Amino acid sequence: MNPSVSKVLVIGGGFSGMSVCIELRKYGIEVDLVEIDPNWRAEGAGISIGGATLRAFKTLGILDEYLKIGSAHSGLDVHAPHGVHLAHIPTPLIGDPDIPSSGAIMRPALAKILAEKTKASGANVRLGITFTEIKQGIDGAEVTFSDGTMYTYDLVIGADGLYSQVRKTQFPEAAEPKYVGQGVWRAVLPRLPEVNNTMMWVGQHIKAGLNPMSKDQMYMFVTQDNAPGTWIKGEEALVKLKDIMQAFPAPMLQQVAGMLDEHSYINYRPLENLLVPTPWYKGRVVLIGDTVHGTTPHLASGACIGIEDAIVLAEELAHKPSLNEALETFQNRRWERCRMVVENSGRLAQIEIEGGDKQEHMGIMRDSMMALAQPI
Ligand SMILES: Cc1cc2nc3c(=O)[nH]c(=O)nc-3n(C[C@H](O)[C@H](O)[C@H](O)COP(=O)(O)OP(=O)(O)OC[C@H]3O[C@@H](n4cnc5c(N)ncnc54)[C@H](O)[C@@H]3O)c2cc1C
Repeated sequence: MNPSVSKVLVIGGGFSGMSVCIELRKYGIEVDLVEIDPNWRAEGAGISIGGATLRAFKTLGILDEYLKIGSAHSGLDVHAPHGVHLAHIPTPLIGDPDIPSSGAIMRPALAKILAEKTKASGANVRLGITFTEIKQGIDGAEVTFSDGTMYTYDLVIGADGLYSQVRKTQFPEAAEPKYVGQGVWRAVLPRLPEVNNTMMWVGQHIKAGLNPMSKDQMYMFVTQDNAPGTWIKGEEALVKLKDIMQAFPAPMLQQVAGMLDEHSYINYRPLENLLVPTPWYKGRVVLIGDTVHGTTPHLASGACIGIEDAIVLAEELAHKPSLNEALETFQNRRWERCRMVVENSGRLAQIEIEGGDKQEHMGIMRDSMMALAQPI
């Protein structure tokens, strides 16, 4: 093995950026990671995890840590707003007896597992720092940082998320994320004993779900169409969420509505997506994760495809004889799967907003989960 790069800069320490550090270090490649947040925080509620994500965790070497803290379960149960059970959608097994087909975990808990693994990998992590300039040359990319330092790299990996500055400066022609017409509420709650797998209640224009995250915790999500630019925060969020939940007379959701109070973690955010057409690289700069394929959470697979990008990119850099070949093969291996997740998730949002065909909705969910179970 003769990697086509020996020194790499990763900009952005989210799930995609941390994963690429871990994978590159396995091939002996020197890695610097810069993360703009001095506290390297990952805020938020639960994150749903499919079998493909758990397979990626096994590759990263964090599956055991995940299973100690997070939840592993299987299947998705769909109900009408009054509570009538409509369908059970099996979540496909990946073909490895170690790997469950579904799960969920608190986002900060997953970020902590990945951050520990990143530090242990030997990557040089610099917090509270970003780039100010990237100058590409024949022998390397010269990067100036916000603390005044300057280093030269064989490759710069932009993993700085949906509003990426690497994309803005190096790929100025790329489109920006677009609001899809829907927002999502999320709340963290004590786990009800009946919540043993993902459960959804699907109304005409609104959908609620519960997912267990650990022995003691579950999270709730509710999608709702709203005018562009709607942000709901603080006390107003509690009042509005309780109000929205009146659309779900199902006894379990009414019980959950009663559990919400001013101490509950409640978050609302508008949903955006972005699919940047290839090429995802220019010379010595390549983009991964949400920088090129930011998705709405309808298939709960945004983190999955970003982490998979990291695994595939490291593999190609380690095995292809030239940087150009490695980057070209990387994007060709990733494009179709990432396009499928962003576009199918967007279609699910559209069906929900329009009160469209529920059979089509369930069919897209089932087909997408089957496609995600395929090898990368
Ligand atoms: C509401 C919601 C729910 C979701 N639920 C799920 C789910 O259940 N399952 C799932 O798989 N996916 C889910 N996703 C998608 C998932 O969260 C993202 O796809 C994933 O977090 C993307 O990771 P990333 O590392 O590519 O980007 P990010 O998580 O955005 O990480 C980018 C990192 O770069 C840093 N950064 C930003 N700018 C700079 C800069 N200039 N310099 C240096 N560092 C910088 C940031 O601080 C951050 O640490 C959800 C998304 C949303 C919006």
